[in-house]
Amino acid sequence: MTDFRIEKGADGVAIITWDTVGKSMNVMNAQGFLDLEALIDDALADAAVKGVIITSGKPGSFAGGMDLNVIAKMRDDAGDNPARGLFDGVMGMHAILRKIERAGMDPKTNKGGKPIAAALPGTALGIGLEIPLACHRIFAADNPSAKIGLPEIMVGIFPGAGGTTRLVRKLGAMAASPLLLEGKLNDPKKAKAAGVVDEVVPAYELIEKARAWVLSNPEIVKPWDDKGYKMPGGAPYHPAGFMTFVGASAMVNGKTQGAFPAARALLSAVYEGALVPFDTALRIEARWFVNVLLNPSSSAMIRSLFINKEALEKGANRPDLPDQRVKKVGVMGAGMMGAGIALVSAMAGIQVVLIDQKQEAADKGKAYTADFMDQGIKRGKATAEKKAATLDLITATTDYAALKGCDLIIEAVFEDPKVKAEVTREVLKVVDKDCIFATNTSTLPITELAKTSDTPENFIGIHFFSPVEKMMLVEIIKGQKTGPRAVAKALDYVRQIRKTPIVVNDARFFYCNRCIIPYINEGLRMVAEGVAPALIDNAARQLGFPVGPLQLVDETSIDLGAKIARATRAAMGEAYPDAAVDDVIFWMEGEGRLGRKSNAGFYDYDEKGKRQGYWPGLAAKYPRAAKQPDLYEVQHRLMFAQVLEAVRALEEGVLEDIREGDVGAILAWGFAPWSGGPFAWLDIIGTPYAAERCDQLAEKFGARFSTPKLLREMAAKGQSFYGRFGQKAVAA
Ligand code: NAD
Repeated sequence: MTDFRIEKGADGVAIITWDTVGKSMNVMNAQGFLDLEALIDDALADAAVKGVIITSGKPGSFAGGMDLNVIAKMRDDAGDNPARGLFDGVMGMHAILRKIERAGMDPKTNKGGKPIAAALPGTALGIGLEIPLACHRIFAADNPSAKIGLPEIMVGIFPGAGGTTRLVRKLGAMAASPLLLEGKLNDPKKAKAAGVVDEVVPAYELIEKARAWVLSNPEIVKPWDDKGYKMPGGAPYHPAGFMTFVGASAMVNGKTQGAFPAARALLSAVYEGALVPFDTALRIEARWFVNVLLNPSSSAMIRSLFINKEALEKGANRPDLPDQRVKKVGVMGAGMMGAGIALVSAMAGIQVVLIDQKQEAADKGKAYTADFMDQGIKRGKATAEKKAATLDLITATTDYAALKGCDLIIEAVFEDPKVKAEVTREVLKVVDKDCIFATNTSTLPITELAKTSDTPENFIGIHFFSPVEKMMLVEIIKGQKTGPRAVAKALDYVRQIRKTPIVVNDARFFYCNRCIIPYINEGLRMVAEGVAPALIDNAARQLGFPVGPLQLVDETSIDLGAKIARATRAAMGEAYPDAAVDDVIFWMEGEGRLGRKSNAGFYDYDEKGKRQGYWPGLAAKYPRAAKQPDLYEVQHRLMFAQVLEAVRALEEGVLEDIREGDVGAILAWGFAPWSGGPFAWLDIIGTPYAAERCDQLAEKFGARFSTPKLLREMAAKGQSFYGRFGQKAVAA
């Protein structure tokens, strides 16, 4: 069985249907390309065939993209000369797509080709759009849930099967840039408005419309194969094009801070490709694509953001138990987190009971969903019916009796052990014995909170990040007595609400906050040392972090930082290591500079809350040191502060799987995505160098940078994290 088949009609139209065996959506693999080529050759050679339609055998979708495992394998199989192997492989893909595009035309006169249409029943991503772009006309079914686009940049590569070169030539660099640089996806109507697809037609007419076009003896020479082709918006030396390219370069570097190799390579491929004829542009695109594939960043990103993320979402670490999907969830506390949890649960079709102390508070929590749906309606992403159906699922009340029949409770009341214990006790009186009870605490140990319950095996942490509806990660925390069914339940719930889970063991601040806090603290220490605040935040942004540590603490609020510092100090006593940090944070708190929420923090804000420059009062209290540190030293301090915490979490068994450490870091706090996560970063720089650098930092800045035993041992043996701990990942 192959993934492509051909049917030749009596009217002379050959329909090539893509239907990947054993998958619900088409994905391209190495054999698939060869099969497609063979069928195209057949159709072009057959005198009875007048034209071709390429479509999909999967209802509602054309293709989800290339199987990225194939790219990883292509590089690994390329042996001693991976660059040459990859380049030849990519040029092979170009040759097949170019064959479709030229369709048997005479190379000189452009005469004699056969029209080839793409008929997309729905979603068409990556190679699933690059193939249509090589066809002569793209028909898309009017399917509003379909997504059409080139999302490669999101996993650290760029469209390398001609998509970059063709889209820029079809739309111009300006119009193509959000699609290529941001991986923006559109529904069919928007894709038509953007000029990506040519026609949107009712689904039931898709093939007939394409057939009629094929039989209409249409013009099929692509503009760029015609004499006198001019790039829309102008090529780089055209006055308008010049502005576009200069602007794009500045914009990309501003946004990425130069930290993402794929964005830079993409821009180079576009710019250089725009200066030369089409076939040369394809070679240039292939060179830059190979350049990106050979950068360790791209394999690390593909591994974390595609392969491992998907494995975790599919339950790589789920105990082997029957389906535990949630039918009715009780959410305790309708504040910021509870309201968001109710929203995402109801959106997933789960019945929700949302409880607060007063009816007004519960109603306010439910209104959050109504507001969210209203915004969706305004943007054309939701309907009034969907809003009504979602709201119908939420019961906002103060009455615990409504919790009867819940199979999962998520508690999100105040961060106070006494309040939490009281709520837990009251809930457990109402629900069945086998109901799983989860807490959304961010700082309190799960094992302690579980003591309120006489079924601690059913007690677990489900830690959301704020804002719940935006943040993709959910951290699941096992207390000492948490049983496998509670873990399976939490994982099945996270899958229902379409987020990515990691499962960790109980320890102070679990995994994510444990790593984020030292990042913020290292920034605050530098303030106390007189390092320029702009150097601190920009060093982080140039590493690819979405916000620097000072901006981050302004966003999360300085009094929250002070509260955590007080609680940690009380719990740790003499061993507390962060007194230098507290000086800064308590002083800021005392000055009433609580961050964005008080319109005053490390930054000044205008009356609309827009960030201005750094607050001058900071420099008055902590004068700038005459000699500022080197950028790399600042970056290494910020990086190692987090990464060493991740290594310690692994060493102590808080983390059981490095994939969770890497995926969690990127999704929870935007850890330099280009690196693939903390462990992937250590593998990129190499454990021997990492250990050496830690020794230097420890000598200069203190014991918090001491090389953990595990890292020291791995450095001595020359081991990598994925080499040593990746087996689990490979086996999954
Ligand atoms: P919040 O103050 O916005 O909401 C708490 C809600 O709980 C309030 O509406 C309050 O009236 C209600 N409540 C208090 N006692 C109650 C009781 N006895 N019965 C019913 N309802 C009661 O707080 P939040 O930011 O939503 O945080 C809630 C929990 O989530 C905390 O444990 C917090 O640590 C955790 N958390 C917060 C964040 C965050 O960024 N805010 C992130 C992750 C986890």
